[in-house]
Formats: sequence, structure tokens, C-alpha cells
Amino acid sequence: MTISTLPQTSSPASQTTALLKAENLVKSFILHHQGSVKLPVLEGVSLTVEPGECVALQGPSGSGKSTFMRSLYANYRIDNGAIWVNHRGDWVNLPQLKPHELLEVRRYTIGYVSQFLRVIPRVPAVEVAAEPLMDWGVEADAAQDKVRELFARLNLPERLWELSPTTFSGGEKQRVNIARAFAVDYPILLLDEPTSALDATNREVVMQLIEECKAKGCALVGIFHDDEVRERVCDRALQFGAA
Ligand code: ADP
Ligand code: MG
Repeated sequence: MTISTLPQTSSPASQTTALLKAENLVKSFILHHQGSVKLPVLEGVSLTVEPGECVALQGPSGSGKSTFMRSLYANYRIDNGAIWVNHRGDWVNLPQLKPHELLEVRRYTIGYVSQFLRVIPRVPAVEVAAEPLMDWGVEADAAQDKVRELFARLNLPERLWELSPTTFSGGEKQRVNIARAFAVDYPILLLDEPTSALDATNREVVMQLIEECKAKGCALVGIFHDDEVRERVCDRALQFGAA
């Protein structure tokens, strides 16, 4: 199936101030190894996010929050709907982009903190975390300085900075992942349980980083298992029902 099977929808009006506009997302999983059972997960979910806003995806485990977030990053192909992103002043619909166009949108416009850091053996944490900022166009030294500043704020022990995160604990990997995304000033940031493995001190640092992003006009969408974090940084919630 190609993306051309998606119905054409018109882009948001030029005067809208929103940065992200997901319209009627429909997504099912087909379980090919289990008799091709069709599992409907998203049945027409819409969300508009304005600059400086943080929207929580809320609902029980298995209700489709991560699936929705991965769809917003075009990690999953949706069955129907539109994902309009304001990319450098132009509206683009993610499911209709060519692969190289999608990479450009991810490089400059949408950041995503996944639940798990993908680690590459032998690459030091500081380089892993500096990669997106360098892709964005910042020189290696400046990018690594910015990452070191974030590592220090996130209390990541300095002896770990030059080591590969392969052997890091869950909370240490999560902080590398957070520094990776927050090093870049993305207009849109997606956070999938960014504080799940952190202690109270570092949870507080992440809440401050989110507040700083909002102040700069970033549009955030987050999944937070922690009520305290959600209540403090989110402006409203999009509710997902029980599966
Ligand atoms: P949440 O993040 O709200 O806990 P998920 O979006 O991870 O929920 O999952 C929603 C539903 O979709 C669950 O029933 C889950 O089993 C199913 N699901 C998620 N990812 C896949 C996948 N890659 N293949 C098949 N089913 C999936
Ligand atoms: Mg999830």
C-alpha cells in the first residue's frame, strides 16, 4: 500500500498559529502470525498543539498512547487521517512525504524522546547525545559543550560521559536520551515517559527543561506516568479510552 491511498485533506489555514495538527488518525495492527487478527488501536484521534503548549496523552496502559505518539513521528504508517506539521513555515502532511523529506522534518522540526535509548557499542555518551544537534548544523565541539551542560544539569556522573551507554542503568540511559533531544531547540517535541526511570531530583530537572522549552514556544506532546509531572507541565490532556 502506498501513501497515495490516503484521501487528500487540505492543509490548515495559513493564519493558524498551531505547529502540529493531527486529524482523525486511524491505526490498526494486523497480527500476521496470529491468523491476521486486526487490532484497532486508534479510531479517529485528533489533536492540535499551539506553540508553548504541552498536551498530555492520558489513559490506561494499552489504550494507544505510544501508538499515537509514534504515528505523530511517522514511525508507524497510519490507515487514515492527516498529520500536519508546520515545518519551517510550510504545512506538510507527514504520511504524504517522501522518505528524505520526512528525515528533514525530523532533523529540524520534530524531536522525539522514545522510552528506550538505542545505543551503539563503542560510541561515547557525549557523541550519542550530540548527534542530533550536529545533524542540525552545529559544529562538533559546540554540540558536545551543549550536551555536557545538559549532562551536568541531569546529574549524569562525569566519569560516564566518555563511555558507551551500552552498560548504563535505565535511568542513566534515559538521561542521555533526554539530553539528546533537549540539546536541539525543536519546534515540536514528543516525550514518551521521559521520567519513568528517574529519581525525584532528576524528574525536577526534566520538568524545568520542559518549562524552558514551553517558554521558547515549543509545542510538546507527552506521556507521563507520574501525575505530579503531568499536572505541573501539561496544559491539558487528550484522553485515551480503555482498549
Ligand atoms: P499505551 O502506550 O497506551 O500503553 P500502546 O500504544 O503501546 O499503548 O498499545 C496499544 C495497543 O496496541 C495494545 O493493545 C498493544 O498490544 C498494541 N500494539 C502496540 N504496538 C503494537 C505492534 N507493533 N504490533 C501489534 N500490536 C501492537
Ligand atoms: Mg506506552
